[in-house]
Amino acid sequence: MIKLRERHARILATIGPATASLEMVEKLIESGVDAFRLNFSHGDHSVHEKSIDMIRQVSKKLNRHIAIIQDLQGPKIRLGVMEKAVKLEVGDIFRLDDDKTEGTKERAYLPHKEILDVLKKDDKIYINDGIVRLKVIKTGKGFVEAEVTSSGTVSSRKGVNLPGVDLPMSALTSKDIKDLEFGLSKNVDWVALSFVQNVGDIIEVKARIQGKAGVIAKIEMPNAVDRIDDIIKETDAIMVARGDLGVECPLEEVPSIQKRLISKCRIAGKPVIVATQMLESMINNASPTRAEVSDVANATFEGADALMLSAESAAGSYPLEAVTTMDAVIRRAERSNAWVPLMDARRPEVKKDSIGDSIANAAYKVAENLKVCALVTLTESGSTALRMSRQRPVQPIIVLTPYAKTARRLALTWGVTCYCDDVPEDVGHLVEHSTRNVMNSGIGRKGQNIVITAGIPFGTPGSTNTLRVATL
Ligand code: PGA
Ligand code: MN
Repeated sequence: MIKLRERHARILATIGPATASLEMVEKLIESGVDAFRLNFSHGDHSVHEKSIDMIRQVSKKLNRHIAIIQDLQGPKIRLGVMEKAVKLEVGDIFRLDDDKTEGTKERAYLPHKEILDVLKKDDKIYINDGIVRLKVIKTGKGFVEAEVTSSGTVSSRKGVNLPGVDLPMSALTSKDIKDLEFGLSKNVDWVALSFVQNVGDIIEVKARIQGKAGVIAKIEMPNAVDRIDDIIKETDAIMVARGDLGVECPLEEVPSIQKRLISKCRIAGKPVIVATQMLESMINNASPTRAEVSDVANATFEGADALMLSAESAAGSYPLEAVTTMDAVIRRAERSNAWVPLMDARRPEVKKDSIGDSIANAAYKVAENLKVCALVTLTESGSTALRMSRQRPVQPIIVLTPYAKTARRLALTWGVTCYCDDVPEDVGHLVEHSTRNVMNSGIGRKGQNIVITAGIPFGTPGSTNTLRVATL
């Protein structure tokens, strides 16, 4: 039987060279990983196929529903090839153009002609993670001229960020489209879309996915932050992608953006992931810095659904230690006196005309009042589980679903543990299934209460209409 994690926030780990073996995947899951990210900026399809197969094989062995997230590279802008690395000094004039020849100290090729067309005077150009900064002083056909405002070294294929510029490109490149086809053929549970700029990007990818996977909008551009309400309405989940976000926005903006995005997602009932540099120093060290521990605890106090490890688990020297650390810090934060009031603080208002929301809210109140040991929810699509999670109850949420796909997709959801079970035939069965699963999960003792929500008749998605209390 699936052992419950002793925490509500979930752990998402990026798989990579440091962890891509059956043995490591097993240890990672046993140490607390709930979902894996495959980073399609690196590795070819055969590498990812191996990882997917390994994760599925180990989850089956351990009898856990683990989500697989395909993270598409998106339109990451890069410089062309340079003759050699060059140091640009403040005040230097540097030109980006459509000339494919190797770059020099005076110029470089920007292999995205459409961008050269939209850049305007005073637009900012950042190269190499924002280390080198330039400001456009002159534009022309097939080129822009810019003045260096922060000095640094520029070399071949370095990343380029254009903060605040509305880029005339879709979040899906031709590489992403091929990768997506591959991912869907391998039944990934989630697809993360990089460099989302507007809701149109989400609509476009959803049209291709046709419900076969959930969509995560990676928020890493100021344009997307400005349009967050529309994006949240359309997407299935959000990632606060602090890596690129911290390049595109002033760094001091990032914590407030993180807070705002988490708060909005909690109200909307959509999972939100906090990503990048959570335990960065653990790439090279067996223990984290105090600041990193605070960062993980803070994301937990904010009520984020999932916290992500990037290079720490993909390429670091201490991937298992990173997971155990994250697990311990989250568990400790959730035991703190500060945690419950913070979960209570953002409880969403119950939509007046929504039966599903009313039942979820009532279940939460009954759970509080009766001090139940678990809330049980039956779901087919997963939407009832999201509603329950949105209430942020202190007790675990046990979700029963007939579909393994739904169970895996919910692995990113705050407080939720899924069990696959048959659809009950009547209310008697419902109580029997619920009590049996709670007892097997090891959290309930005879005589304790549970609160159950379900839709009757069973088997009709979106029909939650029943709240039932049962005694184990
Ligand atoms: P990446 O996304 O690791 O794919 O760049 C996360 C981020 O930018 O924070
Ligand atoms: Mn990114």
